[in-house]
Amino acid sequence: MRYISTRGQAPALNFEDVLLAGLATDGGLYVPENLPRFTQEEIASWAGLPYHELAFRVMRPFVTGSIPDADFKKILEETYGVFSHNAVAPLRQLNGNEWVLELFHGPTLAFKDFALQLLGRLLDYVLEKRGERVVIVGATSGDTGSAAIEGCKHCENVDIFILHPHNRVSEVQRRQMTTIFGENIHNIAIEGNFDDCQEMVKASFADQSFLKGTRLVAVNSINWARIMAQIVYYFHAALQLGGPARSVSFSVPTGNFGDIFAGYLARNMGLPINQLIVATNRNDILHRFMSGNQYVKDTLHATLSPSMDIMVSSNFERLLFDLHGRNGAAIAGLMDTFKQGGGFSVEQERWTEARNLFDSLAVDDAQTCETIAEVFEQTGELLDPHTAIGVKAARECRRSLDIPMVILGTAHPVKFPDAVEKAGVGKALELPAHLSDLFERDERCTVLPNDLKAVQAFVSKHGNRGKPL
Ligand SMILES: *Cc1c(COP(=O)(O)O)cnc(C)c1O
Repeated sequence: MRYISTRGQAPALNFEDVLLAGLATDGGLYVPENLPRFTQEEIASWAGLPYHELAFRVMRPFVTGSIPDADFKKILEETYGVFSHNAVAPLRQLNGNEWVLELFHGPTLAFKDFALQLLGRLLDYVLEKRGERVVIVGATSGDTGSAAIEGCKHCENVDIFILHPHNRVSEVQRRQMTTIFGENIHNIAIEGNFDDCQEMVKASFADQSFLKGTRLVAVNSINWARIMAQIVYYFHAALQLGGPARSVSFSVPTGNFGDIFAGYLARNMGLPINQLIVATNRNDILHRFMSGNQYVKDTLHATLSPSMDIMVSSNFERLLFDLHGRNGAAIAGLMDTFKQGGGFSVEQERWTEARNLFDSLAVDDAQTCETIAEVFEQTGELLDPHTAIGVKAARECRRSLDIPMVILGTAHPVKFPDAVEKAGVGKALELPAHLSDLFERDERCTVLPNDLKAVQAFVSKHGNRGKPL
């Protein structure tokens, strides 16, 4: 499989190089040159497969030419073997034909484990083969950092540095990062905010001289391998609910348009999906585009669903590329306008096409709490605030009660106790067994000033399994 950039100027790459690439050299994002398409008979024949075997069938075309089948199967079996639920991604029924797909049974209790557990293993496999090492420098406001560290902790050929804003992530989130020890794992608390952390990561990609020739790899959702891994659970859910003979709808809590873009790809690969609902919080750039054809930056609002607090949706460019007939020059132009602070609209027929593909809703904190309380009352199930936004959007936007509606359950409620408390649900939150002693564990973390040079000096001093690069 070959991958091309959404801005049309960077060289096409194979899977292995895309995995290690991050952004394309023209500033675009990589997408498959041709999307694989499965027949209904083929998809139907996958019913009842264990998750890792289904994952092999769905993702195999994307890695062809880079990873032999037997190796890929082994990697997938290991990846999904670490999940604590036998079904990996179980469905739980909330109401008639309404289901939550629980994507929080991985090591860090959020759906990001589905992609980052795989990414860590794929990186190590490819690097071993090449005899290379890489350094990961990533910024996190919470969920990505812990999932990336968990995914890379056993990697022989990866050193990982995760920057988080000092004293500005929740205690559960911090401890999920700082209690994992390894000579290749480095937690850095920056005396600044999340944007400061992200700026330092961006600057480090722009000028990599501090790495002395070692390659820098991205773990945020612009990395194609993350999107690829998320396609699988759409097939998994649909097959449980009578697909592909029957079509299924999905409501997806989203910020960076990563998870929902995976659903869009699943549909293009032949899975019958009726509605795809974009569910945002008050940071609603996606909903404003879908409802009013305006893609314009707003200020950042801090909400009860912090993992969706974004101003710009980085993966939206991948959809725009398709909406514009895969014309890279058109996308480069739009993104330029956007960068100048302009924002943009697209031509009427392209916007109509987007509206045919997606429904959308923005949900505020009060509605999020109401939904948590309402679902708890109706079912005894406790939702995390992100999932609650998905449920609210599903209930508002649903067009047919005959078609199963699946809400992606993106996190375990124990990660977001503030929202649960605000919702007034009187149920004690308990950490799952593998994390039950989280608050007693030792922590390891280095506090650094909000200074790029200090951070880069730290990375180059410890970037080779604790030793200098
Ligand atoms: C990251 C995250 C999201 C948003 O994911 P996107 O890829 O931006 O769609 C939603 N919920 C939780 C819990 C997350 O950690």
